[in-house]
Amino acid sequence: MQFSELAEYFHKIESVSSRLEMMAILSEMLKKSGKDVKKTIYISQGILGPGHEALEAGIGEGLLEAGIAKASGYPKDEVKKLYKQLGDLGEVAQKLSKNKKQQSLFSEKLSVQKVFGNFVKMAATEGRGSQETKLGAFSELLNSASPLEAKYIARIPLGNMRLGVGDPTIMDALALNYVDEFTRSKKIRAQIESAMKEKKDEKRKEEFARKARQLLREKIEAKYNIHSDLGEIAERLAEKGLAGLEEISMKPGSPIRPTLAERLPSAEQIIEKLGKCIVEAKYDGFRVQVHKKGNDVAIYSRQSENVTHMFPDLVDAVRERVRAKDAIIEGEALAYNSVTQQPLPFQVTIQRKRKYNVEKMAEEFPLRLFVFDVMYLDGKNTMNLPFIERRKKLEGAISQNEKIALTDAIETNDPKKLEEFFLASIENGLEGIIAKDPAAPYIAGARKYAWIKLKRSYKGELNDSVDLAIIGYYKGRGKRTKFGLGGLLCAAYNEQEDSFQSITKIGTGMSEQILAELEEKLSATSEKEKPARVDSGLSPDIWVKPFYVIEVVADEITRSPTHTAGKTGGQGYALRFPRMIKFREKKPEEATTVAEIEQMYRNQKSVALEEKP
Ligand code: ATP
Repeated sequence: MQFSELAEYFHKIESVSSRLEMMAILSEMLKKSGKDVKKTIYISQGILGPGHEALEAGIGEGLLEAGIAKASGYPKDEVKKLYKQLGDLGEVAQKLSKNKKQQSLFSEKLSVQKVFGNFVKMAATEGRGSQETKLGAFSELLNSASPLEAKYIARIPLGNMRLGVGDPTIMDALALNYVDEFTRSKKIRAQIESAMKEKKDEKRKEEFARKARQLLREKIEAKYNIHSDLGEIAERLAEKGLAGLEEISMKPGSPIRPTLAERLPSAEQIIEKLGKCIVEAKYDGFRVQVHKKGNDVAIYSRQSENVTHMFPDLVDAVRERVRAKDAIIEGEALAYNSVTQQPLPFQVTIQRKRKYNVEKMAEEFPLRLFVFDVMYLDGKNTMNLPFIERRKKLEGAISQNEKIALTDAIETNDPKKLEEFFLASIENGLEGIIAKDPAAPYIAGARKYAWIKLKRSYKGELNDSVDLAIIGYYKGRGKRTKFGLGGLLCAAYNEQEDSFQSITKIGTGMSEQILAELEEKLSATSEKEKPARVDSGLSPDIWVKPFYVIEVVADEITRSPTHTAGKTGGQGYALRFPRMIKFREKKPEEATTVAEIEQMYRNQKSVALEEKP
């Protein structure tokens, strides 16, 4: 596929305002890209391979500016000035490419293969002279690019193409493209028919098509849950159709999407929901998924990024203490004081997430891995075993010591015992508990009542923080004028509609440093119009495409006529007295969902009391 075609598709996607239109364009783009489909998916996500391969072009803004200057003939200062004005290096490259001061001698038509290949080469270049090589490869692309191509080429190394295309929309587009093949199977047709409610003939056809797409989408997502690489999934589909999809299976080296916990506000309600359950201490570190294949150990973050190089101590612990040739296990890693046998504060643990000085920090703040699940053991997928059996398997597979242990746990159906365990956990410096359904399988990529968390309350009614996507901001007034930012408009994620619905405006909790950081980040993702997947009752001074996620605490969730999150009968949900805590390393689609907000609203004690007769 020619890169110019891809750039045209990106341009169309950027200019539509509804998700349905976006999906239709995406579906056509994927069909057209043929054997380049994997690369087009990666490029549209601003990556050079699946997250777990952590391939990065290694071109920072400075080098990008130099590349744009080199290819256009404008001085670097001018590039910088324009960047300040436009806030997006893609647009800078587009504008300067239109008014090029020099004509390239070696201009060729760019293919997707060529553009992608150059960036992969840049990623592989290291050591002395690498900056020069990268600059050469990047400006070579810009030299041959049209203004529109230049815009998207410059955005690739920034890791954000600003298309607003999330994984769910890509999966929907794939389902749309293969639904005809899917419904050729008699068995599938019968399955769909039996799930149909509609009796009227004219509506049956519509319902059949919708149900078929939904079922295929679920199948695609189930594969994505055990193999988080949409590029490869699309490639297998393009090569072999649905038979290619079937071939995808779980294997060490390919991260599984994590299972997530629901919330309930009290020990009684947890026992009411689960009956006898396994209650584990909830550790406040970072979640790791550990893949062992013989002597090779890889560690993945909650976002399925490969973070192995950051944790040599965990790699050693797994090699030495996991008694299985191959395994995929999951746990929480945290810095631990072995004298007091207590965890160190989260601020200490988080310092271990770094690229440099890794060995020194590992010595200073060794980690302990508290393992809580196993998904694969010696050639067998264990995800579908009941949790109680998975935990037994873990006990057999791990030889526990200072570096690696199983989570503390009790089994009970008594709310009093659960409450005691919760209080003891908090006394020991932990965050609370997670109660687990002993009969449940490992539910990849979803939040279900197989896990229920109960956390130490923050002051106020709302006993947990929420993670919200920033969708806009308000300009600073008074003392804040100098930051250019006075408040944020934030949204919860609506999973059903793949949209971001406004829930609160936040003006407090931000230090001067955070304000400055926010302004810098947000001005680079700003938009002239409301972005396609944003659904908001308020219009901020400046819209931003959902990209950054922040953790927020509030006093309570209230009903609100202003916000769109969970809006029914003219009333949505809003947060009362929200405060920003910190940035979260989450994708916008991993923000707290509207369904969770509804659940949290129901959980609030004030509401529970009101509802009692
Ligand atoms: P979520 O992961 O639910 O989206 P979050 O990132 O804000 O939300 P929490 O609300 O703190 O996380 O709760 C879930 C997290 O708790 C898990 O992702 C995991 O990292 C951590 N955790 C700590 N101890 C355990 C345990 N014993 N079992 C499962 N998870 C645990």
